[in-house]
Amino acid sequence: MTECNEISEMLVDYVNRRLQKVENIQVINHLAQCKCCRSDAAAYISLKNHALESMTSIPKDIMDSAFNKIHSQESALDSCKLAYETVKYSMLILKQTITLVRQAI
Ligand SMILES: [Zn+2]
Repeated sequence: MTECNEISEMLVDYVNRRLQKVENIQVINHLAQCKCCRSDAAAYISLKNHALESMTSIPKDIMDSAFNKIHSQESALDSCKLAYETVKYSMLILKQTITLVRQAI
């Protein structure tokens, strides 16, 4: 059986559909039999959905304008990577918080 720690490191990428096919299958198989990791995945999905809902409330013309500016700058790719890493680490911190809360209960 795959260790929870190994799966835990892949959950954020799993939720954001950034895993390779083999890793994706590995995570799915683990989630099918591990309630704890399923719960973590559900928390990530909930957080992602909340973030997406917040994004959709921004008017389309403003979003389009922002994305056009981003695409027009070569350095924007680095900004996107940084933003992605920031979100990823935020999710990892959330996971650690969930783990600590579970231990405290
Ligand atoms: Zn697990």
